[in-house]
Amino acid sequence: MTAEPHALELEDLVMHFGPVRAVDGVSLTIPRGRVTALVGESGSGKSTVGRCVVRLVEPTAGVVRIAGTDVTHLPRRQLRRHRSRVSIVFQDPAGSLDPRMLVGDIVAEPLRLSRTRMSRRDRDARVAAELGRVGLRAEVARRYPHELSGGQRQRVSIARALISEPMLLIADEPTSALDVSVQASVLNLLADLQRDIGFACLFITHDLSAVEYLADDIAVMYLGQLVETGSREQIFTRPAHPYTQALLSAAPVADPVRQRERQQVLLGDDLPSALDPPSGCRFRTRCPLAFDRCATEVPAQIGYGDGMAACHLVRPDGTRPDVRAADTSEVLS
Ligand code: SF4
Repeated sequence: MTAEPHALELEDLVMHFGPVRAVDGVSLTIPRGRVTALVGESGSGKSTVGRCVVRLVEPTAGVVRIAGTDVTHLPRRQLRRHRSRVSIVFQDPAGSLDPRMLVGDIVAEPLRLSRTRMSRRDRDARVAAELGRVGLRAEVARRYPHELSGGQRQRVSIARALISEPMLLIADEPTSALDVSVQASVLNLLADLQRDIGFACLFITHDLSAVEYLADDIAVMYLGQLVETGSREQIFTRPAHPYTQALLSAAPVADPVRQRERQQVLLGDDLPSALDPPSGCRFRTRCPLAFDRCATEVPAQIGYGDGMAACHLVRPDGTRPDVRAADTSEVLS
């Protein structure tokens, strides 16, 4: 018996917008039913990866495979089948919901686009069930998006994304445009739905603390490339890459003991431009551990625990540097 193909496979994905190297060789696999968080600062290219997966933009090079099918160059008309397997929830529900459409029609739109034959009554029942699943009353179907709160609108986006029962959900910063007070409830909803339905998810976020309870695996992106991948447990307890360590040190954690034990690592300057990324290791201009070799040699992806880290200091035996002055001489010797 052959194993079921993964929900998503990216092979050396490249997306250049003219001279801007937004995504520069990203390879990533999401098994069925698992959640991978793609984490990075704004400008790291993480949202572009999501847009390539749903073919909102055409990748410059590389392969996107959904459930084993190469969809990178699928002609537009064949994309319809692909569209029902993968859905996307955008950051800003106000911008992604058509203000002239009733909520019921918005939620049912994927059924219409996939030409699912259904009576009006069945369609309305399906929409009502979907709204119920995201915690909204059936009457909401007869409202317009502007009559709803930001949190309710994002629930509508999630209902629309899930009505076609996708195998893979791309959640692109789904809570960052919402009031802080409703962010947790939308994240909890996504986590509950994922557990109940079992779709795979690429959860794109700049906020590492948002992924602690949602992600199985984490991929950390910096200036168009992955710098570290691993299970959530490994990334949170034994991050190997200095960039991941810096991101983690800036993210608040609920556990006061862990918070006290942690050391704050400051990143300093802003993200360099993807127009002209630094030579060698792209993180070197902000890395507290950078040394000569980092300017001339691109670090290889070294297997580390259950993932990898792309840093000259990570040894194949799985030892890692700590971003502490006392450790620096030791790791560099
Ligand atoms: Fe820092 Fe060098 Fe490692 Fe890059 S390769 S993360 S600059 S130590």
